[in-house]
Amino acid sequence: MNYLHSYGILIFGLFFMNSPKTNIITFGCRLNACESDRIKEIAEESGVVDFTVINTCAVTAEAERKLRRTIRRLHNENPKVKIILTGCASELNPADYMKMDGIVGIISNKNKLLKSEYLKYAFGRPTKSTERPKKVRGFLQIQNGCNHGCTYCIVRRIRGRNVSFPEEDILSGAKALLQKGYREIVLTGVNVSSYGQDLNPRKNLASLVGYLLKNLPELNRLRLSSLDPADIDDDLIEIIKSEERLLPHIHESVQSGNDTILQRMMRRHTRSRVIETNEKILALRPDAVFGADIIAGFPTETDEMFADTRRLLTEAKLSLLHVFPFSARPGTPAARMPQVENKIIRSRAAELKKAAREILFRKLSDQIGKDLTVLAETPVSAKTDSFLPVRSSEAMIVGNEYLFRCESVDKNVLVGRPVKEK
Ligand code: SF4
Repeated sequence: MNYLHSYGILIFGLFFMNSPKTNIITFGCRLNACESDRIKEIAEESGVVDFTVINTCAVTAEAERKLRRTIRRLHNENPKVKIILTGCASELNPADYMKMDGIVGIISNKNKLLKSEYLKYAFGRPTKSTERPKKVRGFLQIQNGCNHGCTYCIVRRIRGRNVSFPEEDILSGAKALLQKGYREIVLTGVNVSSYGQDLNPRKNLASLVGYLLKNLPELNRLRLSSLDPADIDDDLIEIIKSEERLLPHIHESVQSGNDTILQRMMRRHTRSRVIETNEKILALRPDAVFGADIIAGFPTETDEMFADTRRLLTEAKLSLLHVFPFSARPGTPAARMPQVENKIIRSRAAELKKAAREILFRKLSDQIGKDLTVLAETPVSAKTDSFLPVRSSEAMIVGNEYLFRCESVDKNVLVGRPVKEK
């Protein structure tokens, strides 16, 4: 996980999971979303009723501005609101947040999954949620923290060093998600591609994927969250090639297409590494689709450097893009670098987003006439194995897999109908 990844998901990461008892609001990344699922269960089991728990994000100043706006709005709407904060922003500035109206408590990041923390607030009768999950994708955390020092990132300071979870624990977590009815599991964490680097004997993400698929014959759909291009090794490429159940959607935290900017970000890959890696994967797994996080307007970025990034989108065949205007995070080295003008940042971000839409349209148009496997997320929407968005003209059952006939593209969504249930 990193700046882009979490900031990105902020866009679609405002999850209001309104259980009748506890209101959970999630900011930030897939890891936060994964933890929020667990917090919801723990809060209900603890009888934390009529509270709002906000799992916060501190990846950019913008993320915290949105959080403060949300807290103020909740308090304006209901002056009796009781808000418990957890996550990276409240971890970073607990005293500031405790001063805000409506805040009744803060739970630290490391204790956010401890029942004892919620019992302190419990007034209601504990309940066990029996409802079938509304989501089709279950997030499974495999590690926490990060050992790297990207110059725009504050996450490492909050979440600490890379800690890989034991394979056995991850396996039982996966079994629990399958028992709850999830059809797809997404491996998530702060930096999943550094999995196993701290273990003795050392392991890697590929070995974990192999271990899970070997021990879970019933698991048909395993997806990886964002990968650090520097950690996509031959083992991982080999298992992407050989394991059909590992879904062909490779999302990379690329950030820039210019090597000087990548050095100033203290990223560990070069633009040619991304191009070569994706070429290798595509040659071995032709149905692979690449996504990427890209920062627009990183400090000192010139027009020529930006042009390198613009070109990389096609050179590395990146189809599913998260484009983020640089937003300085106080306390990071990047915030002390000479900044690019805001209007230039915004125009570069707009140019990349436009390019991203055109690239995705071409990618989707290439699928017309094909039958692709999809997982239904709602009766009329789904995603393909390679994470392309789909809209159906016929109703589907949420959580079921279908062979889907792609007939046209509308507003950058593949349109068609299910031809067979899988
Ligand atoms: S320091 Fe770690 S978490 Fe932060 S952006 Fe870099 S790789 Fe990601």
